[in-house]
Amino acid sequence: MKIPLAVFLVLLLNTGPSRAAVDAPTLQLLHLKGPIYLVEDSHYVATNSLVYVGPSSVTVIGATWTPETAQILANRIRTLTSLPIREVIDTSPDPEWSGGNAYWKRIGAKIVAIKVTYDFLQRHWAEAVAAFRRNNPSYPNVPLVLPTVSHTGDFRLQQGRILAFYLGPSHTAADIFVYFPKEKLLDAGSILKEKLGNMAKADVEAYPNTLRKLKALNLPIDMIISGHWSAVHGPELIDHYLELLKLNAQGQRKADPE
Ligand SMILES: [Zn+2]
Repeated sequence: MKIPLAVFLVLLLNTGPSRAAVDAPTLQLLHLKGPIYLVEDSHYVATNSLVYVGPSSVTVIGATWTPETAQILANRIRTLTSLPIREVIDTSPDPEWSGGNAYWKRIGAKIVAIKVTYDFLQRHWAEAVAAFRRNNPSYPNVPLVLPTVSHTGDFRLQQGRILAFYLGPSHTAADIFVYFPKEKLLDAGSILKEKLGNMAKADVEAYPNTLRKLKALNLPIDMIISGHWSAVHGPELIDHYLELLKLNAQGQRKADPE
C-alpha cells in the first residue's frame, strides 16, 4: 500500500514512540533567585541542578551528565555572563552530578568535592557507568575524571555564600547538600525528591538519620531544589521524603523506575 506523503507525516507526528524519538533532549537555564539559576536538563534521566553567578566568577553546582552536556551548559552560561566559570561542585558520585568533569577540567575550572565523594568516585565510577548504561544504552562510556580539589570536610565558596556539607549516607554513601545562606536555599540533588526514586545504592538504615541531622541543623530554608521530577519545593520536602522512606521500609511502596 502506498501512503500519500502528507498522510504519512500526520501518522508519524501522531504516534507516541515516533514522536518521542524526534524530541531532542534539552538543557535550559532559568533565573531562580538572586544570583542563582536553575538548570533543567532532559538528557538521559531529567535532572535539575544550579548555577551561581557571583560578583567575579561563576560556580556550577553539579557537573551534569557528560562532557557534552557540560559544554551545552557552559554555552548557556555564556548567554548570561562573560565571567569565568571558576569552580564546579561534584555533589554526588552518580553520573548526572560528576559525568561532565572532563569538560570542566579542560576549560580550566576547579572541580571541587568533599573527600567522601572523591573517594567514592575513585572506587565506583566505572561500575556506576556500567550499571547506568544497562538501562540507558545511549549514555556514553564516560571515563573517570576525578575532582581537582578534595576537601576533608565541609567547604565554602564565593566568600561564604555557598556552603557544601556532608551529613552521612543517603541516596548513595557520598551525596552532599549545598546551602546558600543569603537566599535560604538548599540544593538537595538526588537526596530529596517528590518520589522515592532509585534506591539501588541507598543506605536505607542511615538515610532517615541523615535527614534528621539536616533538620537538627535548623537552617533557615525558604526553598529546596530537588534533583529529579519537579525542582522547586518548600522545606516540607524533608518530612515528605522521610515519610516515603518510612513507607518503603514498611514495604508498602515499590521503588520508582528512576
Ligand atoms: Zn539522581
